[in-house]
Amino acid sequence: MKCFNHRDQDAIAICKHCGKGLCQQCVVETAGGASCRGNCEENVAALHLLLLRGKKVYQKTSKAQLRTGIFIVVMGSAFLVFGVLEEIPPLKIGLCTMGTIFIIWGVFVWRSAREFKQV
Ligand SMILES: [Zn+2]
Ligand SMILES: [Zn+2]
Repeated sequence: MKCFNHRDQDAIAICKHCGKGLCQQCVVETAGGASCRGNCEENVAALHLLLLRGKKVYQKTSKAQLRTGIFIVVMGSAFLVFGVLEEIPPLKIGLCTMGTIFIIWGVFVWRSAREFKQV
């Protein structure tokens, strides 16, 4: 691949925004990666910022979901304990079923939070 501006020069990088080949003279290193001089510099940097922000949102979502998952499991466990202690059969079955559903749901939420973290 040759430089977009200098046909006789080999490209050493590709602009992240417009995809043009760039030689040593034309390439600019921004926080987001290689870019050509001028318009693209800003765009590549902006894209990088956007990505960073997206990552932070992911981490926040993950933490919130982790808490929600734990909360649901704790609630489910409480239902289950009440269910085990309950002596009236229909109530006992109801509480145990609800407790089990809550715990499964909570574990599911918790697991999806861990998947978020790996992004
Ligand atoms: Zn460019
Ligand atoms: Zn060039």
